[in-house]
Amino acid sequence: MVAIAEEDFISSITQALQFISYYHPKDFIDALYQAYQKEESPAAKDAMAQILMNSKMSAQGRRPLCQDTGIVTCFVKVGMRVRWKTGLQTIQDMVDEGVRRAYSDPDNPLRASIVNDPAGTRKNTGDNAPAVVHVEMVQGEGVEVMIAAKGGGSENKSKMVMLNPSDDIVEWVLNTVPKMGAGWCPPGMLGIGIGGTVEKAAVLAKEALMEPIDIQTLQNKTTHTTEEALRLELYHKVNQLGIGAQGLGGLTTVLDVKVKSAPTHAASKPVVMIPNCAATRHIHFKLDGTGAAYFEPMSADAWPEIEWETGEQVRRVNLDTLTKQDIATWKAGETLLLSGTLLTGRDAAHKRITQALEQNQPLPAGVDFKNKMIYYVGPVDAVRDEVVGPAGPTTSTRMDKFTEPMLAKTGLIGMIGKAERGQQTVESIKKHGCVYLMAVGGAAYLVSKAIKKAKVVAFAELGMEAIYEFEVQDMPVTVAVDVQGNNVHETGPQIWRVKIENFVQP
Ligand code: SF4
Repeated sequence: MVAIAEEDFISSITQALQFISYYHPKDFIDALYQAYQKEESPAAKDAMAQILMNSKMSAQGRRPLCQDTGIVTCFVKVGMRVRWKTGLQTIQDMVDEGVRRAYSDPDNPLRASIVNDPAGTRKNTGDNAPAVVHVEMVQGEGVEVMIAAKGGGSENKSKMVMLNPSDDIVEWVLNTVPKMGAGWCPPGMLGIGIGGTVEKAAVLAKEALMEPIDIQTLQNKTTHTTEEALRLELYHKVNQLGIGAQGLGGLTTVLDVKVKSAPTHAASKPVVMIPNCAATRHIHFKLDGTGAAYFEPMSADAWPEIEWETGEQVRRVNLDTLTKQDIATWKAGETLLLSGTLLTGRDAAHKRITQALEQNQPLPAGVDFKNKMIYYVGPVDAVRDEVVGPAGPTTSTRMDKFTEPMLAKTGLIGMIGKAERGQQTVESIKKHGCVYLMAVGGAAYLVSKAIKKAKVVAFAELGMEAIYEFEVQDMPVTVAVDVQGNNVHETGPQIWRVKIENFVQP
């Protein structure tokens, strides 16, 4: 029997979560750099450059890769010959304690995103616990842990289906991925679970995402299992969709596709697909009773040297003097560098503002959207000399239902977020002569460096969902929907799908 000390397990969980908050897995960095090198779409290449630069900056600053520091998902395999030293805590208790310590680390506090009573009050638990823990008893004398911090934007795009046994999985995936939009912050990975029962397929899909990126190795093999053949087919065909980084159109949408399967009922074919995003964060460790796990810091040469260039066509924008006449000259796809003040707000703030508008109540003091931009963000708390912690965009689609009253009644002229807008929202933007700008999801630390001042102006009790006023300098964004309603998330993938069909060999 091997005795594992509970404290070793808990502190290993804490260290692992801190580590993955600022270190991408090396296989992810390498695969993204390869995709960057071969990318021909300027907008997608630019987005990948920002993600790679953000990756290096986060590692150097030991601050989160993304403002969404995720929901912790943990697979624990416990050897049958393991004994816990005190036996007083469950594995769920120990993982949760590790989460609490990791997310409240004063040197690198992580954003607490977990709410309890999800169908009701949705109150933040304050410490990012509880985690989602899967425990399996296995042969052996050790404890093996695979742990991830999964972003909400990518988790929200998960899909499940019960296919007929004769239905084609590839066809379902190729029909489904375009409908997922860009809120999962591609390029990333797809984890696909097939078989078992529907909940088994979901667990398999999540577990598949814990594996390293190795599609290139698979391509060099001469024979393939069913799962491997499916991975290769899906990898090529999903990339041929032309969705590209951040949904802007391009050659690479997925860096790998992972498939895991299990025996199933003769009448069933459950399939679950879960995407992993630009903030892919997971790590594995083993405990053998000799102490806590050790995580070797990554050396600076793990990252490629990339200079992000804004190009000559970039337009510099003064947010403090902006009018509708100014924004009418911006074209979809154009890169802007924003300087001046903007207001922030996401789900909870939008709900309160639109309720106030419905009831003809005044907005809180300091909240004046006249000729202003709103940035959809929930930043990480600042530490040391930071103005604000990592502060990348959140998925704009969730704010669609609030957009018409915001544009019609507040004087707001533009929004900044990530991913596409719904058709009705694009119509509203066009109708009001406004714009939607896109920042790169997964480049949160890089974006935060453009924020020079930050103060909460309303709803402080909402924590990261409060309304802030940010003063930014040269904040990079792309015009995603212009005043004419031209929409890069529609045109980009269309153009690149045709280009790939015509010019790029699968
Ligand atoms: S990269 Fe995108 S999907 Fe992933 S955690 Fe960050 S915001 Fe969420």
